[in-house]
Amino acid sequence: MAREDHRKEVQEWVEGSCRECGNSFPQRHSYERSCPACFKIERDYKMLWGDLAFLWMQEQLKETQLQLLDAQRALKAVKKAQAQPPTKTSPRFRDDLLRQVISLCHPDKHGGSERATKVTQELLSMRTKTTRQKKRKT
Ligand SMILES: [Zn+2]
Repeated sequence: MAREDHRKEVQEWVEGSCRECGNSFPQRHSYERSCPACFKIERDYKMLWGDLAFLWMQEQLKETQLQLLDAQRALKAVKKAQAQPPTKTSPRFRDDLLRQVISLCHPDKHGGSERATKVTQELLSMRTKTTRQKKRKT
């Protein structure tokens, strides 16, 4: 039998969980409860090179699964951090300066100019924001 034939045969197997060691093992039949290594160890059968190779691969798989879990957790943390909007740092105006700027830009002093109205509205919204930030801090 060629390697390819053996590969096709094992592709039919499903992943079982060993009742002895808890590790994954290739389950050929639903009644199999132990991995080949535990099966032999329980019965004190001689462990051959292939059995030890299976044990080695089982440990490698377990380590790789743990690394995958760590990587998935790290990726989740990165995605969560990226999803949060960057913290806004609004320009800091001294209260009295902002009040004076608003007074100077007021549309009443500019013949009801549309531009003065827009600028004043922006400045007023800045004042509201800085007032809210101060309330939050206290
Ligand atoms: Zn086992």
